[in-house]
Amino acid sequence: MNVVIVASEMRPFSKTGGLADVAGALPVALAERGHRVWAISPRYRHVDGARQQPERVSVELFGMDHEVGLSVVEAHGVQFVLVDHVSFQREGIYGDVHGVFGDNLFRYALLSRAAIEAVAAVEEPVVFHANDWHTGLLPVFLEAIHRPRGEHLRSAVVLSLHNLKHQGIEAKEMFGGLHIDARHWPTCDMDGLLNPLKAGIVSADALVAVSPSYSLQIQEDQGFGLEPVLRSRSEDLVGVLNGIDPSWDPATDPHLAARFSADDLHGKSVCKAALQRELGLPERPDVPLLGLISRLDAQKGIDLVEDVVPWLLQDDVQLVMLGSGARRFEHFFREIERRWPTKARGWVGFNESLAHRIEAGADIFLMPSRFEPCGLNQMYSMRYGTVPVVHATGGLADTVVTVDPTHDRGTGWAFAPFTSAAFSRAIGYALQTYREYPKTWAEIRRRGMTTDFSWDHSARLYEEVYQRALSRRAQATS
Ligand code: ADP
Repeated sequence: MNVVIVASEMRPFSKTGGLADVAGALPVALAERGHRVWAISPRYRHVDGARQQPERVSVELFGMDHEVGLSVVEAHGVQFVLVDHVSFQREGIYGDVHGVFGDNLFRYALLSRAAIEAVAAVEEPVVFHANDWHTGLLPVFLEAIHRPRGEHLRSAVVLSLHNLKHQGIEAKEMFGGLHIDARHWPTCDMDGLLNPLKAGIVSADALVAVSPSYSLQIQEDQGFGLEPVLRSRSEDLVGVLNGIDPSWDPATDPHLAARFSADDLHGKSVCKAALQRELGLPERPDVPLLGLISRLDAQKGIDLVEDVVPWLLQDDVQLVMLGSGARRFEHFFREIERRWPTKARGWVGFNESLAHRIEAGADIFLMPSRFEPCGLNQMYSMRYGTVPVVHATGGLADTVVTVDPTHDRGTGWAFAPFTSAAFSRAIGYALQTYREYPKTWAEIRRRGMTTDFSWDHSARLYEEVYQRALSRRAQATS
């Protein structure tokens, strides 16, 4: 198949969260399975890579022709296409210290249109794989601009839903800037507003939520108002868990003080000592070290962490947290360091390398997300022999099996309901098992480390979705 993956962020070029990991890794897994793959994302500031003689295309939006450059970097059998435009050359990706950029509709409509132009010479049909609201308008542009010209009649669009919270909503008046016929307004209209995510949901040929549980929850009560729209497409909506990037492998990870694997965990103790040293905590092999890495957003349940920390830090434990985002939670990070200088660290900022070292050096990983479409850190944790304690929601519920010592099963603790009492109870079980049942602990770790979270598995499931989307279009056009 010819597959064109389009996303607003893509590793290794840009990243604010899990979408970038997915958008960077899935193309490689698909190419390894023999598909021809293009992976298209903006060239933000600070992104290097082939810039010599980029192809230029012109796209009409908001009353003007905009020239964009398309440069191709070939890696791992994938054609990575970077879209150049002055509006991507800013300090942040979606916003800066002053808030979210006011022209994001324009910027991502430009990305969607440029992506279709970028593969104009590729033999049809192609599968366009759009992601989240940013590229939700891609199927609308295909239908409104290209199909009337006889292009892409058999090409299909698959839309992945990574997070329903962000929908790219704008005033109705902005619709005029898209330069498409007014008969496409009902597709984009949600309660009188322009909603790119809703447009994508109703016009893509197939929909993928990033975990089976999330695919159901967004139809019930986690769709941020789009539940009825999602229910109307329930037959075309499936859940596919994200895989994890092969760069997250403790046996080869260059960020670590020592490498380790399920068969030889000596390096993990070295990593723990190195992390304690790096962060200025007492170097003690026996003390349980709890880690957390997160965007600091209400979604991530940091308020539950705030609740449990005074109780937790009375105990003989160490707590290491890395994150950036809401000021309130950044303040909380600084505060715990001040109050518990020998027990806790709250590192404010985005630090990919430190994230690897926390995953490797910690014993227990905390992820009490209020909702979590898929979540990656709990999977990284299991891969690194760090036992996760998570809220039983979305992808967390689908990946972490709660420990049942009587039946030798489980890879962590998934708590419910979403309360600090349930969270602290789960942390309590984890600490007790760590301290009193080292054999059981070793088994829990081993099960986590040997679970298959590879992209190859997810890529096979995506392949099936692509096939279904293509056949549906073929039937529709025959
Ligand atoms: P989301 O996409 O909602 O932020 P995920 O768990 O799917 O959550 O993915 C988060 C990704 O971002 C992981 O790769 C995680 O390690 C990384 N990450 C989040 N915050 C930070 C940070 N402050 N520093 C480094 N990496 C971070």
